[in-house]
Amino acid sequence: MDIALIQAAYIVAALLFIMSLAGLSKHETARDGNVLGMVGMGIALVATLWLSLRDAVWSAWLLIAVAMVIGAAIGIARARKVEMTGMPELIAMLHSFVGAAAVLVGINTFVATSDLVGVEGEAVHLVEIFLGVFIGAVTFTGSIVAFLKLSARISSKPLMLPARHWLNLTALVVSAGLIVWFVTAHSIVPLLVMTAIALAFGWHLVASIGGGDMPVVVSMLNSYSGWAAAAAGFMLGNDLLIVTGALVGSSGAYLSYIMCKAMNRSFVSVIAGGFGSDGAVSNSDVDYGDHRETNAAEVADLLKNASTVVITPGYGMAVAQAQYPVADLTSKLRERGVDVRFGIHPVAGRLPGHMNVLLAEAKVPYDIVLEMDEVNDDFPDTDVVLVIGANDTVNPAAAEDPTSPIAGMPVLQVWNAKDVVVFKRSMNAGYAGVQNPLFFRDNSAMLFGDAKERVEDIIKAL
Ligand code: NDP
Repeated sequence: MDIALIQAAYIVAALLFIMSLAGLSKHETARDGNVLGMVGMGIALVATLWLSLRDAVWSAWLLIAVAMVIGAAIGIARARKVEMTGMPELIAMLHSFVGAAAVLVGINTFVATSDLVGVEGEAVHLVEIFLGVFIGAVTFTGSIVAFLKLSARISSKPLMLPARHWLNLTALVVSAGLIVWFVTAHSIVPLLVMTAIALAFGWHLVASIGGGDMPVVVSMLNSYSGWAAAAAGFMLGNDLLIVTGALVGSSGAYLSYIMCKAMNRSFVSVIAGGFGSDGAVSNSDVDYGDHRETNAAEVADLLKNASTVVITPGYGMAVAQAQYPVADLTSKLRERGVDVRFGIHPVAGRLPGHMNVLLAEAKVPYDIVLEMDEVNDDFPDTDVVLVIGANDTVNPAAAEDPTSPIAGMPVLQVWNAKDVVVFKRSMNAGYAGVQNPLFFRDNSAMLFGDAKERVEDIIKAL
């Protein structure tokens, strides 16, 4: 294959990636977006393999092919097994691979091109290597900590080292000094010292972030992994890797920005790390009084007499896989003339868009699935709200208690409705580890048990 043909294949792949991103921005076209991305990646892989073949490096080609077969086999096995609830940690793990790859490519590029001393453009090349390794190392350890926190292998509480912001700043200042040494001395020592600092920096950056802020971290690491890939593209002189990395980097950064807005966090302090909870105390010990319990028959009666119902699902709906009976209940109520809609918080579940994917899977019509801002003003005119496995995203403390770890995060104001039914298994706190005063309000009732079973009970009672 001619080099021009390979370049053309890269352009087609890049266009497919852009179309894929456009497709992924709406529920209706998300599946098509995924397919376009897969086709683009297929074309990119074939073209890249061909490129190494064209250079007649057979052994390299064989190595790549073997590595790809092993990687694909592990990837397919893992992806087939993963539950929707385990998706965020899998994604965090995958980001760490991109970071590790950027570090290895960077160090290897430096070693392989060490004879370029004095060549024009050498300084730029060295800066590329340095930045690529730095971003890659931060992404690598940051993603591992995110993986460990999301999979509950370590506590999701923020690590509050004394002077943690100074530690971060020192790491950045020392790295800035090391880049000067690296470019002037053309030595591997500053590169390796910086790699160790960046690994520790990435670890600390994510370790100091509390559970409630993890969604922003995941999308921020997504962005970092894109920039790490783009940096690797510069080092390898591969245009497609640069374009693809930049697309992932910028779309991840934009998603982080949207999520910061949704959670009322400052975007700048997110990128600088150590944002979010500044050691705010959990209010789990506060006595909010008694809660009221209800049962499926009572909830069925409430629903029979309601004319407007809003369902606000959360992570518990995903755990229980309750989306199918929830869709069933929705169509039964709609047949009776009840106006049923869904209110989706931007960080409900464990992944942006988690609830939308589950509801789409269960064939809930898109036009009744509304975003938080579209539904929040309607709660005072709503008869019944069904909070299905959601907790932090409907917590009034976020709006009313400035000492709460989730203070300032916009939430679904379900407590303004006439009646609220909360589906969960116990009085335990949600992901952020914060007690929820909603459960103790006069217009709230708790329906304990697995969300799927309870919704099925209500359908029977209807
Ligand atoms: P939460 O994690 O706050 O609450 C989920 C609730 O579901 C729990 O209180 C749990 O209570 C209940 N639950 C669990 N299993 C079941 C079951 N089988 N049946 C019934 N109920 C069940 O979820 P939200 O969706 O409200 O909030 C998301 C949280 O996750 C936020 O804090 C967000 O910041 C964080 N997060 C979000 C990410 C994202 O991108 N969306 C990524 C990472 C974190 P019980 O145990 O008593 O049943």
